[in-house]
Amino acid sequence: LAKDFGRNSFRFFSPEQHRLIQSRYQMGSDLQAALDNGEFQLYFQPKVGLHTGRPTSCEALLRWLHPQLGFISPAEFIPLAEDLGLINRIGRFVLEEACQQIARWREQGEEINVAINLSARQFQQGDIAEQILECLKQHNLPAHLLSVELTESCFLYCPEETKEALNTLRSQGIQVAIDDFGTGYSSLSYIRTIALDILKIDRSFLVNLEASEVDRAIVTSIIEMSHVLGLQVVAEGIEHQSQVTILKQMKCDQLQGFLLARPMPADAFINWYKHQNA
Ligand code: C2E
Ligand code: MG
Ligand code: MG
Ligand code: MG
Repeated sequence: LAKDFGRNSFRFFSPEQHRLIQSRYQMGSDLQAALDNGEFQLYFQPKVGLHTGRPTSCEALLRWLHPQLGFISPAEFIPLAEDLGLINRIGRFVLEEACQQIARWREQGEEINVAINLSARQFQQGDIAEQILECLKQHNLPAHLLSVELTESCFLYCPEETKEALNTLRSQGIQVAIDDFGTGYSSLSYIRTIALDILKIDRSFLVNLEASEVDRAIVTSIIEMSHVLGLQVVAEGIEHQSQVTILKQMKCDQLQGFLLARPMPADAFINWYKHQNA
């Protein structure tokens, strides 16, 4: 049929678009296999108390080592996994790995809170809180060793499921953090109705902290509001000492960023952690 319209006239996509679609398609099918082939691994990045300078807890960040392409960023494959309906399987893997790791460190005498990231799709399924509580139980872990991080998009896409799950989790002692705060399209109204523990200020508000009076005003306000509401504040993506100085004056609670430590495999993390606390 295409021939009747002449050579090349039946093309929907430019070669560049075609290549993109194909690589996305290819990556999607690779993603299916990645779980079975053990290509996923958790890295851990510490959060550090701003006043003590000591690590308080950490965040689990997923890494995919693709056999041909090398490391692929979660910023790339998580949205794809969401589109392909694979995020729930990946999410279960992350939960299980995180709980195993908490249990291993605990056996070594280190009680470290690990935060896992949850995407809106995981709340949509409706049983995420039960999955988490079940996993803690299987590993015989107290709830205070696990935190969850979610973005404002969860309140936009599935407000009821998210609200219900967070209430269940918090009632059992799991800490709840809002991630990338300030970048979502959601209103502040969820903050009034949902009990939270931690607010993580997105890196984009902090990169120009020294130069931008506007950003300093925003960050000061976020910190003050959080404290009035009884929330702890974490500043994300800290790379410069000048940011630390300013955030200290602003009475921010915790820092996370390359300046303190990069995300690390579990063994490197625990060595770093013990050394910092020695
Ligand atoms: P996030 O949860 O906001 O995680 C923080 C991201 O900032 C991480 O990127 C971390 O490596 C990076 N980061 C930390 N310190 C610095 C810094 O000083 N400078 C800069 N430029 N970046 C810094 P990563 O690991 O690439 O993850 C990107 C996003 O992917 C995460 O953002 C999170 O939204 C998502 N993600 C990662 N792991 C998971 C997961 O297990 N499940 C889900 N649903 N999402 C995940
Ligand atoms: Mg996070
Ligand atoms: Mg973040
Ligand atoms: Mg992010």
